[in-house]
Amino acid sequence: MVRLASSANGQGVYAERPYAAGETILVFTGEEMTTAEADRRAVRHHCLDVGPGRQLYVDPPARFLNHSCDPNAGLRDAVTLVAARGIAEGEEIVFDYSTSVPDPSWTLACRCGAASCRGLVVGWPALDEKTKRRLLALKIVPAWLLPAA
Ligand SMILES: [Zn+2]
Repeated sequence: MVRLASSANGQGVYAERPYAAGETILVFTGEEMTTAEADRRAVRHHCLDVGPGRQLYVDPPARFLNHSCDPNAGLRDAVTLVAARGIAEGEEIVFDYSTSVPDPSWTLACRCGAASCRGLVVGWPALDEKTKRRLLALKIVPAWLLPAA
């Protein structure tokens, strides 16, 4: 149960009840298309990468999930958002965009305010090893993003 409300970054998604660590918050739904199609339709900024060259044009409210460098939620698989720690009712739900972007040249300027704010958010392949290890330990990196073992 989540709701949409205004946040420091425009709209954001907020918890309507508490969540325990590991609990599923929502499953992303929407129209799936190729990255080329998302670019052609100029909807890429509302899309979630769900596989190599694959985009999900995300339905609201999940479309409005903001990024944080200290996320309280994350992706268990390509489309399932889970609590990365306990989340209080009323707290904004945020995840780390680096865990959903395979493009090493993608960047996003960040002012999330976290003590660990990276300032510039990058795609997973360009992320520093320490941050990768922290996110992997939280089990919030979808398997499709990781190189085959
Ligand atoms: Zn940040």
